[in-house]
Amino acid sequence: MTLNELIDMLARQPRVAVLTGSGISAESGIPTFRGADGLWKQFRAEELATPEAFRRDPKLVWEWYRFRRQIIREAEPNAGHLALAEMEKRLPHFVLITQNVDGLHQRSGSRKVIELHGNIFIDRCVQCGKEVDRSLDPESNEEIPHCECGGLFRPGVVWFGETLPPDALDRAWNAAEQCEVFFSIGTSAVVYPAAGLPELAHRRGARVVEINPEATAVSVHADLIMRESAAKALPEIVAHLQSVKPS
Ligand code: NAD
Ligand code: ZN
Repeated sequence: MTLNELIDMLARQPRVAVLTGSGISAESGIPTFRGADGLWKQFRAEELATPEAFRRDPKLVWEWYRFRRQIIREAEPNAGHLALAEMEKRLPHFVLITQNVDGLHQRSGSRKVIELHGNIFIDRCVQCGKEVDRSLDPESNEEIPHCECGGLFRPGVVWFGETLPPDALDRAWNAAEQCEVFFSIGTSAVVYPAAGLPELAHRRGARVVEINPEATAVSVHADLIMRESAAKALPEIVAHLQSVKPS
């Protein structure tokens, strides 16, 4: 499929599902997981984002999450995030599924966002389940924050080895099954089950569009590949879309 064919298809307002990964936030200055700059101190994300790491050393894990929260608070959505918010306004059947925990899609105006891996600003009590949103409330001043029930707070994200929130996963699955166009943007598509979504969409006959400067597992299913950064490719698509009339 060519870019023009994609634009023609989008102009007919099909059902669209989008999957984003950490690559879309790279141009906002938020490190991806697997890139060379994804290391913190000597640790790999895979060694910190686990229930075992939290049991072993909650102070260390909290230090890392507070460090990441600070980077994200100081970051701004980029042209890629903004273009997706614009697409949502133009396309009545549009669902955005993200593996990101940074909330930048919402901050750039996207409304229909499914967060598969939770949100980094949530503190969740391991004992009673109470949640506090630290993007609104000030950070706790404890090194290891505690809930009023006495339980430990943990970050409200999905760690390696944990299951995804069933409701979010259901909605993502349905969107991938029913869409006619599926975008895979800035994800290496190695973390399952999210990585299964482009494949599912492809099997159900959707046109798959990949936006990623590098080849990934999705590339083999893609009908159109844009080997560009998200902040470059997405505004280009939106600009074309603005110039065509729905037929
Ligand atoms: P990943 O690090 O495995 O893959 C990132 C992908 O983005 C790579 O394929 C890379 O080529 C591509 N990329 C890099 N720069 C890009 C750009 N400018 N435009 C488009 N693509 C670009 O990340 P993943 O696939 O999201 O999986 C890692 C997991 O890490 C996710 O589950 C997510 O929850 C978590 N995570 C989230 C954040 C965040 O919220 N911003 C940051 C790091 C990790
Ligand atoms: Zn509690």
